[in-house]
Amino acid sequence: MGCRTEYCIAFLSIFLLSCKEDSDNKDQNVPVYSCMPVTNDWESSQYILPYRVGSEYFVNQANCSGFGHSNFWSHGYDFTMNIGTSITASRSGTVGWATDGCADGNTACTNLITIIHDDGTVALYSHLTNGGVLVSPGEVVEMGDIIGRSGNTGNTGGLPHLHFSVHPCNQLPGLSNAGDCPTIRVNFRNTDPNPDGLEPKRFYGAKDF
Ligand SMILES: [Zn+2]
Repeated sequence: MGCRTEYCIAFLSIFLLSCKEDSDNKDQNVPVYSCMPVTNDWESSQYILPYRVGSEYFVNQANCSGFGHSNFWSHGYDFTMNIGTSITASRSGTVGWATDGCADGNTACTNLITIIHDDGTVALYSHLTNGGVLVSPGEVVEMGDIIGRSGNTGNTGGLPHLHFSVHPCNQLPGLSNAGDCPTIRVNFRNTDPNPDGLEPKRFYGAKDF
């Protein structure tokens, strides 16, 4: 599957737009996306860590940690991973977008997967390696299934990692350009206690679920 150029351009332009919003928050015409809490108990979370049980990875960026995780993208996690690491579905659902064909190291083009859950929320798995998208749109995946391989495509800052975020609807920036589905904060049930979500700058191991 080739990289759809229009998605890449849209993704880049939204990123540039969100950077601009960083410096323009005083302008009342620009939406401000605040840092939100989670409301559920972490032990009953509908999400598991998006990698294999028994493995552990370093959370380099977490919720509201600045840099790429601010404004629209306030909530989400960057797991530092070598290129080619297996990515698993954090929650069951149906594949929405599955775009591949961007070369690792290409900062303007991101390989990504979205999975639409039964309540309409959408998980985004991005920066996947070239050839690392292992599912197709419309495919049903179960929690824990291997869906892709991590990489270093798009705005990674040069650090290979998986970006994982959850959105309240299926109009993600760069995919629909709607810009009205900002990230929401989630926690995970198969790891150490994380009532407010994962903390940055530490490892989290994936346990049985
Ligand atoms: Zn990220």
